[in-house]
Formats: sequence, C-alpha cells, structure tokens
Amino acid sequence: MAKICLCLTGKTIKRNLELLEKYRQQVDMAELRADCLEPDERLAIRRFPEQAGIPVILTIRRDLDGGFFTGGEASRVSLISKGLAFADPNPRRNFAYVDLEEYFNVPSLEEAARAFGTRIIRSYHNRKGVDLDLPARIRSLCRVGDELVKAAVTPHTMDDVLRVFKAGWETMDIEKTLVCMGSLGTPTRILAEQMGSQISYTAVKGEPDLPDLALGQFDPLELAELYRFRNITAKTRIFGITGYPLQVTFSPLFFNTVFGLENIDAVYVPFPTDRLEPFMELADRLGMGGASVTIPHKESILPYLAKSTEEVRSIGACNTIVYGQEGWTGYNSDAPGFSGALLCFIGKKNFKGLRITVIGSGGAARAVVSEIYRLHGKALILNRTSSRARELAGPYRFAWGALDNQGIKEIEKYRDIIIQTTSAGMEGDAEADPLESYAFSGFEVVMDLIYKPERTAFLRRAEAAGCRVLNGYDMLMRQAQLQYGYFINAEFPAHLMTRMRF
Ligand code: NAP
Repeated sequence: MAKICLCLTGKTIKRNLELLEKYRQQVDMAELRADCLEPDERLAIRRFPEQAGIPVILTIRRDLDGGFFTGGEASRVSLISKGLAFADPNPRRNFAYVDLEEYFNVPSLEEAARAFGTRIIRSYHNRKGVDLDLPARIRSLCRVGDELVKAAVTPHTMDDVLRVFKAGWETMDIEKTLVCMGSLGTPTRILAEQMGSQISYTAVKGEPDLPDLALGQFDPLELAELYRFRNITAKTRIFGITGYPLQVTFSPLFFNTVFGLENIDAVYVPFPTDRLEPFMELADRLGMGGASVTIPHKESILPYLAKSTEEVRSIGACNTIVYGQEGWTGYNSDAPGFSGALLCFIGKKNFKGLRITVIGSGGAARAVVSEIYRLHGKALILNRTSSRARELAGPYRFAWGALDNQGIKEIEKYRDIIIQTTSAGMEGDAEADPLESYAFSGFEVVMDLIYKPERTAFLRRAEAAGCRVLNGYDMLMRQAQLQYGYFINAEFPAHLMTRMRF
C-alpha cells in the first residue's frame, strides 16, 4: 500500500516536530531534509526518529542536486554517519530509511545502514525531463535486493506523464518510488498505488520560513482527506478532468467531496493535458470510468468518441466522456446546466419572445446558443473572431457580428438578456471586460459563465448600472450534478444539493 510522506524542511528540529504534529493524522512517514537545518541543528538529527514516532527517511541533499548542503562530500558522509550511528536495538529509534543518490559510493556506510536495519533509498533525479528509457534507468538503479529505488523526473507534457505511468507498470517487479516534479505530475502523486510507486511525497505550503521545494507536491491534508489517498486501491474507480492549463477547476473538490460523503470507492483526478492523444491512452490503460473535458479540448475530443448524444452532435462540443462496452460516449452537461440556471433565475420555462446577446463563440457558447434555439429564443452572437460567430450563428439563423462598434450597436435589438461566455475575466485576467464599450441600460438581465472570480469586471459594471446579474456558479453546480449522474449512473443525492457549497 502506497504511503504518504511529509517532507520536513524546517530550519530547526523543533520546527520540524511542530510541522509533523500538525499533520500526524494524515501522514505515514516523514523525510527529514537535514540539509535544510541550521548547521548547529544538524548535530541533533540522531534523536529525530524517536522524537518523530513514525518511520523517518534521512536525506541530506547537496546544493548541486537542488538541496541546501554546501559542505564537502566528506562532511556530508560524516553527517549521514552521525545520523545512523550507534543503532538502537529498538528500530523505532533509528532512521527507517536513508536516501543515498545513485552516485553515492561509500560501501562502509551502506553496509552499516543495512546492519542497523536502515533501508537504503537509491535515488536518481532528472530535473530537466523524463528519461527516454525510464524503465531501463529504474532497473539500473537497483544494486542490492533490499534497496528501494527512487526516480524523480520532471514531465513537461502529457506524453511524459504517460511514459512515467508506463515505466511504473513495466517495473512492477521492482520496489520503487516514482516522483514527478512540477504541476504536470499531479496524477502520478494521487495514483501512486496504480503505478506501483510506494511513497507519495507531500510538503507544507505557504509557511514563510520554509523553502519552496515542493515542486508541485500536495499538502498532506489535500492528498489524505480530499483525494482519500489511503483508500485508493486497484479496485478504486478513477474519474478526472482533462484540460489545459487547468489552473482553475472546482471539479476535483466537488467530485471527491461527494465520493467521500457517499462512501463511493472512486477518486477524481486532475489531468493537465496539453495533448489529448496521450491522455486518452492513459485513460484506457488506467481503466478510467469517465472524465470531464474542459478548455481547450471540448471540440477536439469528438474524434475519440464511439458514441455521442444528440446534444453533443448538434452543439459540436462535449464536456463529459464516459467509458462503456463500446468505448467512450460523449455528453454535454453545459447545455442543460446553463438553461436550468438562467431559466430559474428569470423565473421562466423557456426563452420564447426574448432577444438575447451572446458574447463569445467557443465551446461554452455553442452549448448556450443551442439551448437558446431549442427553447425558442432569438440571439445575436458577437465574437472577437467574427468568422467563428458567423459559423456558430449559421445553422440557427441567428444574427452575428464582431466585438466592434458595429456589433455592439446591434445589441440594442437583443438586450433582454446578455450572456458573457468568453474566458476573458477569469481569475488571473480579472480586470478584462470583453464588452467594455457597451453601456448597460440597467434593464438587461446579465449572465457571466465565469464563476471565479464571483463578480467579473463585466458583471460588476452591469450590476452598478442596475442590471440583475447571475454568475456561472449555479450553471456549474447543475452541470456537475448531471456529470455525476453520467459517471455513477445514479441521481445526484438530493440531501447533498443544499449542503454542497464551494
Ligand atoms: P473556449 O472554447 O476556449 O472559447 C473561448 C472564447 O473566449 C472564444 O470565443 C474566444 O474568442 C473568447 N476570448 C478569449 N479571450 C478573449 C478576450 N480577451 N476577449 C474577447 N474574447 C475572448 O472556452 P469555453 O470552453 O467556451 O469557456 C469559456 C468560459 O466559459 C470559461 O471562462 C469557462 O470557465 C466558462 N465556462 C463556465 C461553465 C460553467 O459551468 N459556469 C461551463 C463551461 C464554461 P476567439 O474565438 O476570438 O478566440
């Protein structure tokens, strides 16, 4: 069973013990990064395993390898020896592991570690990328049968991540830990068990006195409690979200919370995906049950679908895929999520008699426009790239235009409701307003599909002019509940409807 390890990078032993105490319930073991300790504190490492009370890895990383130890190799060897020396008959008082780099070659110290019952982690770090033949690299690290091999690599693409998983599967016979540094490695940290990796490293974040060595690692609370890492077994059903860069997504919080509350043996994993092909291969190899699909893949996912709903075919965009006997089936929960939220807000059953402006022509706009048509509304579509607005409007015979003076003037004829569907104004781009030269009259109902921030600059301006405004949160919740139904093949639990607030 894969274990959660807390990487301790405090400057003093006392600080590291405080950090460990804070996360004791969430972690199975700790790594004492003795290179982060003040020089005087390093002399006190020998008692740390006893003070910690859980298995501890001793690591003293050189600055050349990304650590903080600047002394010569002789003094590092001497410090490691101090940490291991005078082994106690009670193994709990000794370091459980010592991390020695691949190049480290001090046979006397290694023999002593073995004699004292301290297991060697033979580590290899590639900070630039993922080795082309990672399985061979992993095998080359094995020296003696009882060592645990650790390969830490740096994926830059989904192809790299797929290669790490494959390397894990091809070396199932080897006791190892595979660590992916950087944000793309997120799935490998959650699904360590699936690729035969024994340890998932976590780090304390946001503490000003601790160096930022986390390299994309999770906080222990997130891995243990949100992702329920210790419950993940070969039987756990895997769901997730594919998109890029996937910086703002509420879906892992939503689905993992529901799975936890409903005691469903499933986990929902973020897969930052620059290219869909390796993700789809990984999804097949992992036996994933389904996935949410977000920017920029809602349209490019279509060729991978064996089946799709009428909605997906008419909208031309898919935000949910579910695996079944025939392969992947595509759904679009944005469309009913959007119309459900907006109709509830305006207190109507359809859009009959309403003239509506839609800003944007991406995947979300496609869902919005198809619902306006299906529910008998009339629309004007304005987009930065006017050819995309024309393309979207064509099949519905809706009006279209560019986001320029002429297009904005047309809004006068379509201003019962104005719906903002572009990504301009999302967190990280919060002051962007795609309709800044339009003056709201105060009578428009205004919806922005963005939910983070809660009020975009566009929505704040509409509200200040006296308009009734709605952000994308209710749509998001409705579409997520529908996705839950597709994934689990069951209705979203009614008792959670009001409880779930993010
Ligand atoms: P998308 O397919 O990438 O489309 C992006 C759209 O935004 C395009 O029309 C693009 O215009 C336009 N755009 C991007 N930057 C712009 C700028 N600076 N000024 C003007 N227009 C700009 O993305 P999507 O999937 O449709 O998602 C769009 C937004 O909807 C995102 O913020 C997403 O979070 C939100 N959304 C919310 C929900 C919900 O449940 N609340 C569901 C789905 C989507 P061009 O064609 O000219 O590039």
